[in-house]
Amino acid sequence: MASVVESKEWHLTAYAPEGVPTSDHLKLRTVTLSLDVDSIPDHHLIVQNIFISVDPYQRTLISGLEDGLYFPQTKLNEVVSAGTIAKVIRSRDSSYREGDIIVNLYSPVAEYCVIPSASHLRKVDPASELPLQEYLSSLGLPGFAAWVGIEVIGDPKPGSNVFVSAAAGGVGMFAGQLAKLKGCRVIGSTGSDEKVKLIKEEFGYDDAFNYKTETDLDAALSKYFPNGIDIYFDNVGGEMLEAVLNHVNTHARIPVCGMISQYKKIWTERQGVRNLLNMVGKEVRMEGFLMSSHPNRFGDFAKEMESYIKEGKIISKLKIYHGIESYLESLGSLFTSSNFGKVIIEVKK
Ligand code: NAP
Repeated sequence: MASVVESKEWHLTAYAPEGVPTSDHLKLRTVTLSLDVDSIPDHHLIVQNIFISVDPYQRTLISGLEDGLYFPQTKLNEVVSAGTIAKVIRSRDSSYREGDIIVNLYSPVAEYCVIPSASHLRKVDPASELPLQEYLSSLGLPGFAAWVGIEVIGDPKPGSNVFVSAAAGGVGMFAGQLAKLKGCRVIGSTGSDEKVKLIKEEFGYDDAFNYKTETDLDAALSKYFPNGIDIYFDNVGGEMLEAVLNHVNTHARIPVCGMISQYKKIWTERQGVRNLLNMVGKEVRMEGFLMSSHPNRFGDFAKEMESYIKEGKIISKLKIYHGIESYLESLGSLFTSSNFGKVIIEVKK
């Protein structure tokens, strides 16, 4: 391999407090990177990214506002970050060898990069029979977030009435399937009729509806939950959360995974939820969570999820974009209903 390489990377040129980020905010540039092992500090690696995970929280890192998720904001001119699967090209850490495949939770969105070897890295077992992309999907952030929300916070019981919003997405598809495996009755909402069909036929949901064509969410939930809701896995917040709070059963649980309907707005423009009082009378437990706060449960999760995938009890759908150039478009796609499954970029076209 040559001693230098040209690498494309996405960097932040302006904050985007509202709306969907555009080329005014994120730009692609090409840099030259030395592949000489002596050019990097001790305990660092040079890696080539193979797959990049595209997730809604990445939009919240470039708003310039420290609110809601409280993740540190990307600095102007800095390369934006994402989870990746990468190949080690050079190593100055004896725990990593050239050719190792790693999962990196916080990587620069770049073709090649220099990263510290100390944190946020996990090696992929070369004997693994699963496609590499699954380490960003079923065995990555979406699968783990779904597992924490359903199994740790949701406490599902056979027959529990479970509702999942953004049910055809990266997290939602696993949340619903995990609840089905616990014997629950599971209903999902999503933004197109095609996806309603998909989640019923492929993810095994008992029923589903298109929240864009249901003119009255309250009436829809009355129809789909005649016996009330025991667990609401919230991916969207806003008016759906408000409607759900009118249908909760006593001691219902609401694992709050995210609120994607509110990410494009500054907080004073976000939608208020007027009926939180129902939480008191129905003694509801609503709990926000970050999957990164449950590292001690990752082993249990990975063992369980890997066997479900191998046995075909859970299926994982991927939407693959090709080439690092597609980052901006793929990030924007999360804020429409155009995709289903987990959105990933295959870096090499
Ligand atoms: P995703 O569901 O694959 O993609 C986002 C989906 O959200 C879109 O496909 C769209 O689907 C739906 N959506 C977009 N704008 C919406 C709106 N205004 N109202 C309702 N739905 C809207 O994304 P994901 O990665 O699985 O993430 C889902 C949620 O989980 C997000 O809120 C994310 O921030 C959160 N999350 C949290 C953690 C954690 O640790 N807590 C980890 C991962 C993800 P449809 O409109 O077609 O349904």
